[in-house]
Amino acid sequence: HADESRVEALAQRVLAGEILPRERVPEFVDLAAYRAGGGYRLATAVAQGAHDPEVLIQTLEHAGLRGLGGAGFPAGRKWRIVRGFAAPRLMAVNIDEGEPGTFKDRHYLERDPHRFLEGVLIAAAVVGIDKVYIYLRDEYHDCRALLQEQIAALQADPPCPLPTIELRRGAGAYICGEESAMIESIEGKRGEPRLRPPYIAEVGLFGRPTLEHNFETLYWVREIVERGADWFASHGRHGRKGLRSFSVSGRVREPGVKLAPAGITLQELIDEFCGGMAEGHTLYAYLPGGASGGILPASMADISLDFDTLQPHGCFIGSAAVMVLSQHDSVREAALNVMRFFKDESCGQCTPCRVGTDKAARLMASDTWDQDTLRDLADVMGDASICGLGQAAPNPIRSVLKHFAHEVGGAA
Ligand code: SF4
Repeated sequence: HADESRVEALAQRVLAGEILPRERVPEFVDLAAYRAGGGYRLATAVAQGAHDPEVLIQTLEHAGLRGLGGAGFPAGRKWRIVRGFAAPRLMAVNIDEGEPGTFKDRHYLERDPHRFLEGVLIAAAVVGIDKVYIYLRDEYHDCRALLQEQIAALQADPPCPLPTIELRRGAGAYICGEESAMIESIEGKRGEPRLRPPYIAEVGLFGRPTLEHNFETLYWVREIVERGADWFASHGRHGRKGLRSFSVSGRVREPGVKLAPAGITLQELIDEFCGGMAEGHTLYAYLPGGASGGILPASMADISLDFDTLQPHGCFIGSAAVMVLSQHDSVREAALNVMRFFKDESCGQCTPCRVGTDKAARLMASDTWDQDTLRDLADVMGDASICGLGQAAPNPIRSVLKHFAHEVGGAA
C-alpha cells in the first residue's frame, strides 16, 4: 500500500546512494574501518576451531551477559542449551525494538553494525547454526538499507565461512518483539505468541532448535571475549554486574542512550549521565522499563536498576527504557496512554488480554477510577494471559493505585 511503497522508495534511494544514513552518524564504522580495528579476527579464529566452544560459553557466563531485549536470560546458558539439541539449528535475531522508549539497538546498529554481525558469526560457529534470520523493525528503513549494504559487503569478502543470513522486515506489530510471535511471523504466519513448553530453544523456527537473541546481546560478544569476562562484570554498581544501555527519554537535560553500570539508580543516572533534570522540571515519577515495566515515584529514585532488583516493587527493567516524568506530567495520563497502547497491540489471541486491556483503558479514562474493578481486571490479566504483554499490561494500573492514588480519586 501507499506507506509501504513510500518506505520502499526511500530505501531504494538510500541504497542508490542519494541519501546516506551513515552521513548522519559521523562515527559510523564501515567494514573496512571495522577490519582495520581488528574486526572479524575473533570470528575467523572461532570458525577455524582455535577456541574451545565450552571456554567461550563459560566466558559469557562469567561475564554475566544476559538477554538485553528484556527477558534477561543468561546468554551463555542459552548457547549451551541450543547446542545440546540435534542439528540443523537456526538463529533468530530480534531487532524489532518496539518497546516504547527503547532506541538502544538502533543507536548501535547505525554506528557499528559489524560488531553485531561478528557477534552473530561467533554465536553461529559456537552453537552450530545453519541459517540466521534477522528480524528488523519495519520503521527502521534507514537501518534496513544500511544492514543490507553491510551484509552484502561482508558476503562479497567473507573473513570466514558465513552461515546463510536472511534479513526479514517486521510489519509494525509490537507483539512480534515477543520471541515466539516473532518466529511465527518469520514463518509467514500471524504474529501470535506460542504456548510453552516446548521452548523455542528445542522447537523453534520451522520446528528446529533455535537460538534467539536480541541485537544488543550479540553486540557485546566480541568485546567480552577479547577483553575478558572480568572486564564486563567489573562495571556493575550496588552489587550488580555488567553494563546496561539505558534509553533515557523525558524531562532530563540530555536524553539518549547511556551506557552505564548495571544496578545504577535513577538519581545517579540522571545526575551522572543525563546532565540533571531539564530546566524548570523536578523529578516526579519514572518508568524504569518502557511501557511494560511499571511506574515508580520520585521517592524511589534510589533503587538499583537491573534485572531482578525491581521485582519487589512490582516493576521490571525490561529493555532498560527509562522515561522520566516531572511535576508538569500526569501519571494517570501516562498510565492511560500505556494501556491504550497495549489495547491496540494485543494480538487478540486470549480473552483476558484482548478484553481486559480494552475494558481497563475505558475505566482508566475516568478522572476517578473504579478501583475495585480495575484491581480485579489487573489480577485476571496478570494470572490468565498467555504471554508477557497481557501479564504486564496491569503494571500501570497497579503502579498508580500503589503510588499515585491521589491522582485518581484515592487517598493522597
Ligand atoms: Fe495475544 Fe495478549 Fe494473549 Fe499475549 S496476552 S497472546 S498479546 S492476547
